Amino acid sequence: MAEEFDLITLGAGSGGIAASRRAALHGATVALVEAGRVGGTCVLRGCVPKKLLMYAAQYGDALDEARGYGWQLPADAAGTTDDARGFDMAHWQAAKTTELARLEDVYRRNLAQSGVELVAGRARFVDAHTVAVGNRRLRGRHILIATGGAPACDRIPGIAACPTSDNLLDLAALPPRAAIVGGGYIAVEFASMLVRLGTAVTLLYRDRLPLRGFDDDLRTRAAAALEQAGIVLRPGQAPQRIESAAGAWRALLPDGETLHLPWLLNATGRHPNTADLDLAAAGLAADARGAVPVDAQCRTAQPHVFAIGDVTDRLNLTPVAIAEGRAVADRVFGGQPAPSIDIGRVATAVFTLPPIASIGPTEAALAAAHAPTRVYEADFRPMRHALTGRAERCYMKLLVDDASDRVRAVHMIGADAPEIVQSLAVAITAGATKAHFDATMAVHPTAAEEFVLMRTPARRLS
Ligand code: NDP
Repeated sequence: MAEEFDLITLGAGSGGIAASRRAALHGATVALVEAGRVGGTCVLRGCVPKKLLMYAAQYGDALDEARGYGWQLPADAAGTTDDARGFDMAHWQAAKTTELARLEDVYRRNLAQSGVELVAGRARFVDAHTVAVGNRRLRGRHILIATGGAPACDRIPGIAACPTSDNLLDLAALPPRAAIVGGGYIAVEFASMLVRLGTAVTLLYRDRLPLRGFDDDLRTRAAAALEQAGIVLRPGQAPQRIESAAGAWRALLPDGETLHLPWLLNATGRHPNTADLDLAAAGLAADARGAVPVDAQCRTAQPHVFAIGDVTDRLNLTPVAIAEGRAVADRVFGGQPAPSIDIGRVATAVFTLPPIASIGPTEAALAAAHAPTRVYEADFRPMRHALTGRAERCYMKLLVDDASDRVRAVHMIGADAPEIVQSLAVAITAGATKAHFDATMAVHPTAAEEFVLMRTPARRLS
């Protein structure tokens, strides 16, 4: 006999949790099915632990930079050039584990307080309204698929056996040398962190620059920053095959070289988690990438079944999944009109050091669309590095629609770029014009003030 719910959510990640709690707030009875821990990729294997590791890397930089400001480090006092400071991954690992357990506990308590029933186990469709979880049968008036994604392990022969970011974040000690395969978010973020934590990193990617899809001026500067940090960049050299040999890895490159490495990270993208769902039993089918096809309001081919977040493989970012989940719950259970998410106006950040952040189209996309555009740029050495001796720079770009004067895009690489672009995203969403930027008083001395001090276009696209 099936247990009845207004909503059954599959997957307790950021999107599934947000949708379930919002639905319960509207009075729905909700079952949230999760086979593993509560929190999903972002909290357990992604954004949160990644950023904690980034902070660890940043402290290393800060120690070096402190000398320029007059700080004596223990190694200086000892008269050695080697400051003998070591990053203790085991310490970080233990602290991170405690923090994630705390967060998971918060999520569990919030779900319980909202009246959402957490069902442990893996869900599989039995029919369009019913899922099986172990011996239980749950029947939902509505079903939400929020099962997220997992690292893709099939993109290069032999790569299936290689560690992924999931494994890296669970290591108790970092390898002395590593190759990272891929040039996307995960590849460059981990390359940037690992090299600062003591691992010699080679980045193997197939394009001429990392971070395909980002503005070219950010990509070239990101590549330069990675190189400056000591990472060996190998553009056009994603391995053709990977072999494991006696606890190490052999990567066969397109130029004929074979790299021998103690460690190799697979960062060649992620795929949606649909394989175990038996979508066919619900009258649904995944697309060629394994994603659940949905319309602008996250509806699948079955009008009472919805899918949100990474399992739909559109814009795989936590805030997007959360916004989609809440919009579904508000519409279905709150009777509110569903705002569809404007994917073209979502800001995104890459947590390299220095970080990158963007909102809006790239300059190349506007040029290809023959959109008359004024391009404003600033490229400078941040004041922070006046005394550190570091060559790090900050680059900012505004793309302004020539006819309407609206600022269409903001691109930045430099310290605090994600924080700065998050604030500017409000202005972009509100439809701010360049005249609004010009009329905004600067906060001095900051890096962000450059965004309101750009007066002369560097070039025009027509
Ligand atoms: P990405 O899609 O960002 O990058 C995948 C990389 O793998 C690309 O460089 C791609 O190359 C490469 N690749 C794919 N197939 C092959 C192949 N057959 N041979 C060689 N290289 C290949 O995926 P990630 O796994 O880095 O991240 C997944 C998603 O998670 C991101 O897209 C993002 O949405 C999200 N994320 C967000 C973060 C953030 O907000 N800071 C951080 C981490 C992840 P090519 O470019 O040539 O196609």
